[in-house]
Amino acid sequence: MKANNPRLTSWIPVPENSDFPIQNIPFGVAKFGKKTFVATRIGNTIIDLHKIAKLGYFDVDAEVFNSQKLNKMMLLGKLFTRQVRNEISDIFNSENKEAQANAKIQEALYSVDEVVMLMPVRVGDYTDFYSSEQHAYNVGCMFRDPNNALLPNWKYIPVGYHGRSSSIVVSGTPIHRPKGQQKPNDNEPPVFGPCKLLDFELEMAFVTYKGKPLGKSISTKEAEDYIFGMCLFNDWSARDIQKWEYVPLGPFLAKNFASSISPWIVTLDALEPFRVAGPVQDPKVFEYLEYEGNKHIDIKLQVAIQPEKTTEKVVSNSNYKYMYWNMNQQLAHHTINGCNINAGDMMASGTISGNDENAYGSMLEISWKGTKSVKMNDGTERKFIQDNDTVIMRGYAEKDGVRVGFGEVVTKVLA
Ligand code: CA
Repeated sequence: MKANNPRLTSWIPVPENSDFPIQNIPFGVAKFGKKTFVATRIGNTIIDLHKIAKLGYFDVDAEVFNSQKLNKMMLLGKLFTRQVRNEISDIFNSENKEAQANAKIQEALYSVDEVVMLMPVRVGDYTDFYSSEQHAYNVGCMFRDPNNALLPNWKYIPVGYHGRSSSIVVSGTPIHRPKGQQKPNDNEPPVFGPCKLLDFELEMAFVTYKGKPLGKSISTKEAEDYIFGMCLFNDWSARDIQKWEYVPLGPFLAKNFASSISPWIVTLDALEPFRVAGPVQDPKVFEYLEYEGNKHIDIKLQVAIQPEKTTEKVVSNSNYKYMYWNMNQQLAHHTINGCNINAGDMMASGTISGNDENAYGSMLEISWKGTKSVKMNDGTERKFIQDNDTVIMRGYAEKDGVRVGFGEVVTKVLA
């Protein structure tokens, strides 16, 4: 893929350690004044793709980019988005002096501080998997038995559930602490009130193109043709509400009040150079879950908590490569029964925890069910998330001197 060439440079300045070199070219939706448009980003420059398209690039009706969501563009499929990414790479290549001198192209550029990033995708359906072995093991140890921490189905099935798509919000959108029923004491009746054990879940999500009709399946081999790209995903969780409500039908109000995403969808094409091998899967998986090649991705992930009146404290350094089940397997499993997918569906990984306790992806694990606390920079301690705390997640892949990142998902928790 020519846009991935590590030697490419752009005539737009790219600061050191930027997540957005010319090898990234993510897609998002930006607002400048009253105008909303499909955008990409190089360095700290936001590029209005509607204006670029109106100049005759991309070989498509420019109205595709005159949109409040990426869905219209995604409906044109993978070959189209790949072509657009390659053309953007050509326009902003440092050797393209003609484009640099073109005043009309210059008019399509904004500083990152001048625009507001909006929710990029109209999410039709949201699925949350549970695909990190260390996370499933940790939760199993805490709530069941360390000797049988993984449930018998876990290494056979990429376990998941259908979540609520309409409460997924973009970075910068504050959320409210949920209220609900809890049962803090085993021997007493339940109580009602604000959640006391509010938690983040460090996850990544992928966004799909339009799939096959109902009744057809997508194989692990075909999966990438149906995946547009990825973003950071904070799957907010109310642990006390969850514990009381989840039997027998699974998560409900503990999960559906909000999930937060980073505003840029980084294409699967841009992440291709960062592929790595996954873990050996034992027992052997069913044939429809078998896959070939390196299907995991090395993406460094970080979570920080910033209390209202002090600097942030990093509480986790994890990696997307710690997943047991990869995206190809998740999508194959999701559709093996004939379930359909649509352009704009979002599928989250499940909390991503590494073996090391510094790599745990939730406060439930970091505080080990509230038995340990983390010291903030102002001396206060956290077992879970408090009112007015801001949770920040970051992620990037890096190889051959090229860093392709996701930016941040930043969310403040209100009372
Ligand atoms: Ca989750």
